[in-house]
Amino acid sequence: MKNDQRLPGRRALLRLAAGLGTAGAVRVIAADPAGAPFRPAAELPEGAAGPPAVRRELPSAHRLQPMTAGSPPRFRPAAPPVRTRPFEKLSEIGHAMVLTFDDGPDPLYTPRILATLRKYDVRAMFFVCGEMADEYPDLVRAIAADGHTIGNHSWTHPLVTRLSRAGVRDELGTTSEVIEKTTGTPPFWYRAPYGAWNRNSFEIGAELGMEPMAWTLDTLDWTEPGSGTIVRRVRKGAAPGVVVLSHDAGGNRSQSVSALRRYLPELLDEGYRITVPRRR
Ligand SMILES: [Zn+2]
Repeated sequence: MKNDQRLPGRRALLRLAAGLGTAGAVRVIAADPAGAPFRPAAELPEGAAGPPAVRRELPSAHRLQPMTAGSPPRFRPAAPPVRTRPFEKLSEIGHAMVLTFDDGPDPLYTPRILATLRKYDVRAMFFVCGEMADEYPDLVRAIAADGHTIGNHSWTHPLVTRLSRAGVRDELGTTSEVIEKTTGTPPFWYRAPYGAWNRNSFEIGAELGMEPMAWTLDTLDWTEPGSGTIVRRVRKGAAPGVVVLSHDAGGNRSQSVSALRRYLPELLDEGYRITVPRRR
């Protein structure tokens, strides 16, 4: 298993991953320098998100004929658009925040986080690594059974920007497969390890039916700064639509576990809802 903490020079990798420019503590910037400024579709006025309207023409008669006689029509869900930036903040969710936990599942920490979320009856997102999901399918099922959203965080947690296109497809594809095999539902969201996005990952993610989700607020819990520091970071960064990054695996996550027990009831007391984004 690879994890953020054991990999050397994580910060250096983050900077390298860049072209990213300013991968600061609270905002992650997509790796595609040619990309248009990111605006989640949900923030755009209706009709402004897509390409210019195409003049509709009446279908010609032959288009009304079934492609293959005798077989029922096959419907595929529409693939999401190819993004040039990941979602970083969710303005559509009102006075709510999203909690996300990466790199798991882990037999020691994931159940503790699930217990806290269950105690307060809130849902979160878990971006699992395929190799961890494959090793702990019961934990993946437990996450899903509690109503949380399971996202794709690649199979081995590589720096995606160093992979070939085939390598990206393998990392994301196999992880989606194991999630679907285990829970019955393929993931709708994916998150690049280290927040290192590139065009391949946007395109292949879309091909696999997924949307890219980054974060607004990085707790940097993997540095084990003390649970009090993690709590303060979350409280300081709390705002409507904020997506919080924490980890439930990849090292000693006891601080992440104990911090959640403190900041979750505090956020709720302040009137925040804790929610997960809807599928688009
Ligand atoms: Zn990660």
